[in-house]
Amino acid sequence: MNKEKFKKYGYEIIDWIADYLENVEQYPVKSTVKPGEIKNLLPSSPPAHPEEMEAIWQDFKKIIIPGLTHWQHPGWFAYFPSNNSPASILGELLSAGLGTQGMVWETSPAATELEEVVMDWLRQMIGLPESFAGVIQDTASTATLCALLAAREKATGFAVNTQGFSKILRVYASKEAHSSVEKGVKIAGYGRKNLVYIPTDEEFALIPGELEKAIEEDLKFGFQPACVIATVGTTSSGAVDPLKPIGEIGKKYNLWFHVDAAYAGTAAILPEKRWALEGAEQADSLVFNPHKWMLTNFDCSAFFVRQPEILTRTFEIHPEYLKTGVDAVVKNYRDWGIQLGRRFRALKLWFVIRTYGLEGIKKIIRQHIHLAELFSRKLQEDKRFELLAPVYFSLVCFRLNDGRGEEELNLLNKQLLEAINSTGKIYLTHTTLNGKYTLRLVVGQRTTEERHVRQALEIIKTKADSLLGQKLSG
Ligand code: PLP
Repeated sequence: MNKEKFKKYGYEIIDWIADYLENVEQYPVKSTVKPGEIKNLLPSSPPAHPEEMEAIWQDFKKIIIPGLTHWQHPGWFAYFPSNNSPASILGELLSAGLGTQGMVWETSPAATELEEVVMDWLRQMIGLPESFAGVIQDTASTATLCALLAAREKATGFAVNTQGFSKILRVYASKEAHSSVEKGVKIAGYGRKNLVYIPTDEEFALIPGELEKAIEEDLKFGFQPACVIATVGTTSSGAVDPLKPIGEIGKKYNLWFHVDAAYAGTAAILPEKRWALEGAEQADSLVFNPHKWMLTNFDCSAFFVRQPEILTRTFEIHPEYLKTGVDAVVKNYRDWGIQLGRRFRALKLWFVIRTYGLEGIKKIIRQHIHLAELFSRKLQEDKRFELLAPVYFSLVCFRLNDGRGEEELNLLNKQLLEAINSTGKIYLTHTTLNGKYTLRLVVGQRTTEERHVRQALEIIKTKADSLLGQKLSG
């Protein structure tokens, strides 16, 4: 592609993205294609000869767009959000344009130093002490895996790195912890059966007394407790594990204490939500995702550690071809995680934080929380619905309950969810809480307004009306 064509399509694509973001509401939020439908429209082997950009661009619109679920749709209430913003898109575009790769300081000093600075801005924004240093990981799953690997090395005096496992190490997390914890435990070699799930209270938060009991039990059997993972904002219900007592237990038994605040960490930039991270200062590591709820397009996960030297000792490797003359005085982020090559993600984060400012970001997060509270209040005015968990942030867990048996209620709510999503106007997902099929509504899209939340309420009630075959309340 020559420069003229590059510019032509570059401008056209930016125009298209600007229009898309403005008009995304016109698309059905959830794609309706069947499995295999998109693949069948694509050639099964690569083109032998160059194709015109125009043909590729038209195919994108014709074939790819119908197969998309629109995460930036204001009716997106599913999973957790993964919101973006114009500033973040431009940062990402520049990063691709530069094609820089910041594996070591010398391969792009600005990439490393900007990452150091924006990570320190984020640290201050969520109120972590100065002793924490940050690094951008691709996802919270990777950050949690890094924490588990560092915990493994700390617990064994860095012996697993050199000798392999010689004892059984145990990891503790609540049974509401995200599946990335189980995945990390498997990959890091602890063994799935050495992940000990700790019971939770009626609000789905880890019970510290049960944690201590499990550790004591393990010690009796000769296992070595190595790591405890607490969650701030669990995936199913937004529960908050009590960090203070968990941290104290961690300290008492010399465990690595990791905090998974993937979704709710962003809320800690609000003074009124800072309570959620109370006790995080005792953590060895913490992760939260600007790519979920802080306007920074996927992927961008903020990982903080209190003793970076444990992390770097876990990962460092010094082949001759990577040595530089400044290694003793600079940060080489290649030693702060699994991958060697690193994208220039700090750029989009820098663009986001500067264009919105702290106050601008706070305003959006506060509005999302306000809308979730509004939804939960209005929903409860209709006595057919019940909340199944407290609303701490912007996630509301609820179900339709007309008094029929639990099994039938589960089926009814599954049908309700299908009916809601079939409208194409909003998209919600589900979980189970105490065996109850639960609908989850999360407010987190940049462009979601009160009218979208009111529309969601209307759709949910109308679908409930037709499922129950009667209109019990207005
Ligand atoms: N932790 C929690 C609490 C989550 O809710 C999620 C995803 O929703 C993750 C971790 C995994 O996030 P990622 O996709 O960044 O790996």
